[in-house]
Amino acid sequence: MAAPNILVVEDEESLSLLLRYNLESEGYHVDVSDRGDEAELKLRENVPDLLLLDWMLPGLSGIELCRRVRARDETRNLPVIMLTARGEETERIRGLSTGADDYVVKPFSVPELMARVKAMLRRAKPQVVSRLLQAGDLEMDRETHRVHRATREIHLGPTEFKLLEFFLQSPGRVFSREQLLDGVWGHDVYVDERTVDVHVGRLRKAINKGRATDPIRTVRGAGYSLDDQFPV
Ligand code: CA
Repeated sequence: MAAPNILVVEDEESLSLLLRYNLESEGYHVDVSDRGDEAELKLRENVPDLLLLDWMLPGLSGIELCRRVRARDETRNLPVIMLTARGEETERIRGLSTGADDYVVKPFSVPELMARVKAMLRRAKPQVVSRLLQAGDLEMDRETHRVHRATREIHLGPTEFKLLEFFLQSPGRVFSREQLLDGVWGHDVYVDERTVDVHVGRLRKAINKGRATDPIRTVRGAGYSLDDQFPV
């Protein structure tokens, strides 16, 4: 199962290390940033599944970053948990409606924060934590690694499996080749964008045997999308 990605934005190094350690122990992929402006750039490159955001940050404050996150289509629904120091600005933040989904006051209990992270992912993005993913007559079981189209079992190579898993986490959403590369192959791997076309082609071939409707849409000049609903 692909682990949910969490971006931690915190300038206190000891706290950032503690959060990374605990989140990774829970099985999440963690990226950290110690500046608000740097975090904004990261969010433009890649949208995580959840953002843990400190309130006071160099570069750009957490509150401003949260506003900008809400103003962009790509991150409008990104779950945000804001970390605030006790007494610091807590009341003011609450009154300001920053758009954060939850607030945690420092110093906080790590198990409590972990529980809140899990609850929020479950609520906001059930598809990143759920075992079964589905769109139309396509169904994927991430634990047994089995894929079915209606009653037919589909055998996929590891890359096609990850690609389909990625599409099934956000059916209907259009992904650029670059976003697919980041999401499926990872940021640190150099792969040509044409590779994406090759693997999308293989995935199509595997899932569209016979006269089945092709659920993958090629969006000219933009990329690819897996339809949420399609005639079966
Ligand atoms: Ca801080």
